[in-house]
Amino acid sequence: MRVPMIAGNWKMNTTVSEAIELVNEMRRGLDQIGNVDKVICPPFISLAAVRELIKGSSIKLGAQNVYFAEKGAFTGEISPLMLADLCEFVIIGHSERRQYFNERGEIVNKKMVAALKVGLKPILCIGERLEENEAGKTEEVVTEQLRSSLAGIDYLNGLVIAYEPVWAIGTGKAATGEQSNETIGLIRRNIAKLYDKEIAQGMRILYGGSVTAGNIAEFAQQPEIDGGLVGGASLKATEFLSIVKQTSEIKTVK
Ligand code: PEP
Repeated sequence: MRVPMIAGNWKMNTTVSEAIELVNEMRRGLDQIGNVDKVICPPFISLAAVRELIKGSSIKLGAQNVYFAEKGAFTGEISPLMLADLCEFVIIGHSERRQYFNERGEIVNKKMVAALKVGLKPILCIGERLEENEAGKTEEVVTEQLRSSLAGIDYLNGLVIAYEPVWAIGTGKAATGEQSNETIGLIRRNIAKLYDKEIAQGMRILYGGSVTAGNIAEFAQQPEIDGGLVGGASLKATEFLSIVKQTSEIKTVK
């Protein structure tokens, strides 16, 4: 049985005081929802404050990025060890990192290795761009992203995968539940080939891309989809709560 998960990626939004306010708005409601892992990923500068606020609750904390070196002269970067001290999860390979910061295969792989080494649980993002989707290359792209991201890695430590078609992120144009279910099924089969069937069956694979309270049910109802990585809608307490609540209810019925 896979415990569903909803992870909120706040991206580069909220000052520290806004982050505190947002957590205060959603903390109680989130804590009361069972049968789903609730993860919030605020900006680095708010991690310590948010960690204090969610102490003793069932809400989990994640970071949005990490550097691969252990420490040293890398001005402005944050190491895996620094994060392991603060949070449980880290998003790696988000398409915005791939697109704006040129983070591709080898870098993503190095980040994965470094994060796993210190016990962080990666939320690995993969997904095809619009032109790749239109050219029928989705399968090829996600297969290659999986292969390169996981190269040489045998200890997965609760790795979560987020399938995020790039054309659906922040655009308001979500994929369909059916399309995503199919691609996530394919990702699971690939994990079975790279590792084994049991690992693939136990791995949580989320959908991400313009998830809202209005469309989460379409995704949560799909058997292969274990929840969502939510960007814009995770910044609105009421909407995020609704997304988590619907996921819990739908997955509990099954
Ligand atoms: C994301 O940040 O991973 C994401 C899916 O964003 P949005 O929900 O805003 O499309």
